[in-house]
Amino acid sequence: MSVINQRFDAIVIGAGPAGSTAAYQLAKMGYKTLLLERGRTPGSKNMFGGRVYLQPLKDIYDDFEKKAPIHRWVKKERISFIDNENSTTIEYESTKTTSFTTYLTQLSGWMANQAVNQGAILLTEIRVDKLYRENNVFKGVVVEDEVVNADVVIDAEGINRLLLEEANLVEKLKPNQVALGVKEVIKLDSNLINQLFGLDNNDGLSWVFIGNLTNGIPGGAFLYTNRDSISLGIVLMLEEAIRKLDKHIYKLVEEFRIHPLINKYLKEGRIMEYSTHLIPEDINSLKPRKLYYDGLLIVGDAAGLLLNQGYTYRGVDFAAYSGYLAAKAYDYAHNNGGPTSDNLSKYEELLRNSFIYRMLNKFSGVTELMKKERLFNTYPALINELASRLMHIDYDSYKIMEAFKEVKKGRISWLTLIKDLWEVSRKI
Ligand SMILES: Cc1cc2nc3c(=O)[nH]c(=O)nc-3n(C[C@H](O)[C@H](O)[C@H](O)COP(=O)(O)OP(=O)(O)OC[C@H]3O[C@@H](n4cnc5c(N)ncnc54)[C@H](O)[C@@H]3O)c2cc1C
Repeated sequence: MSVINQRFDAIVIGAGPAGSTAAYQLAKMGYKTLLLERGRTPGSKNMFGGRVYLQPLKDIYDDFEKKAPIHRWVKKERISFIDNENSTTIEYESTKTTSFTTYLTQLSGWMANQAVNQGAILLTEIRVDKLYRENNVFKGVVVEDEVVNADVVIDAEGINRLLLEEANLVEKLKPNQVALGVKEVIKLDSNLINQLFGLDNNDGLSWVFIGNLTNGIPGGAFLYTNRDSISLGIVLMLEEAIRKLDKHIYKLVEEFRIHPLINKYLKEGRIMEYSTHLIPEDINSLKPRKLYYDGLLIVGDAAGLLLNQGYTYRGVDFAAYSGYLAAKAYDYAHNNGGPTSDNLSKYEELLRNSFIYRMLNKFSGVTELMKKERLFNTYPALINELASRLMHIDYDSYKIMEAFKEVKKGRISWLTLIKDLWEVSRKI
């Protein structure tokens, strides 16, 4: 193995939100930073649902709202319980917003550009083959049999974690630890989107679906409005999907697209792209034993730092903010004797004092809750049938409790219902 004759303060692996933000912050603080990305362009390998929460990104990037590739500001939120023919929807609308829709490819690309503008070197189509270490100290990376040295390596490789696995820092991913997401992007005229979803110019909609779209498998579906397209997808817990899904998951997305309650919005649309990706699900078991080693920090999805709230994922702002904190931790270590594991443990301290650990602790019971299949089939069906009894009237009208008792009969006991309500109210 040969050694490249150039040394960096920091090498960051992966130009997703976590890596690009780490590189941005490191370069901004004056560190000689190399950002390596295996994709053709930063962001080309990234995929997500469609909505990002703003505040953490505003804390990191100057003038984020003015400069970042924001498609629409989410002003309308819908949650629908859906079956073959009916859906019951809760809608929330506000003039204020705390989130926006975008393409992750564009946002990651923009973040990587900010890093470059601060002086970081970005190399694309470079796959890191291995973390390089001497005497248990991480000292750089191996790319095609050549070693590139750095004071610190920041691993932002995302959920697949092949490098961490090779270095024996994490175990191979298991199907019960992740969910599988499949998404279609459907081109649709911007004015038509406004008209169909009742939106003003730059306003957006975030819409999640719970019910039989997932064939009874724990998971959900989503629809986000972008500037002139719709992101439409399904997320399934992988272990259950492997056990129970009797068709290709793409078929499920297609069934979702042509569902009579959805298709009416998409008739004029043209499918632009398909993508599929894993999502960290069981954060408690996914999180590596440690996120800091001598000369190494782990950020973003690779570190299991994603919030699953049950009906929505927050990964992008968590990833970016963890990259930001890792850069801060390196700065601390650099000014206090070097990036030893002891000094880099500052990262853990910063995470603990941030919204990231606060939120992960608060929602730590969600994954367990999501394994209850009746949340995805029994309850949505029950809600729809209740709505149907109350809304479809020939002569006699139902009282609410009378209708509820009728639809509940044979489906679920009072005891189970109360236990589930209690659990949902505590965990979500
Ligand atoms: C279906 C789905 C829906 C989602 N919905 C949302 C949502 O609506 N909102 C939200 O906030 N989050 C959402 N997320 C989660 C979010 O996408 C992730 O949490 C976030 O992208 C993680 O960022 P990251 O930088 O850690 O990893 P990634 O975005 O995965 O980036 C990792 C980067 O590392 C590169 N890389 C990997 N290995 C190497 C290597 N060996 N050498 C060089 N480069 C390498 C990859 O090419 C990639 O560019 C969703 C995820 C999925 C899959």
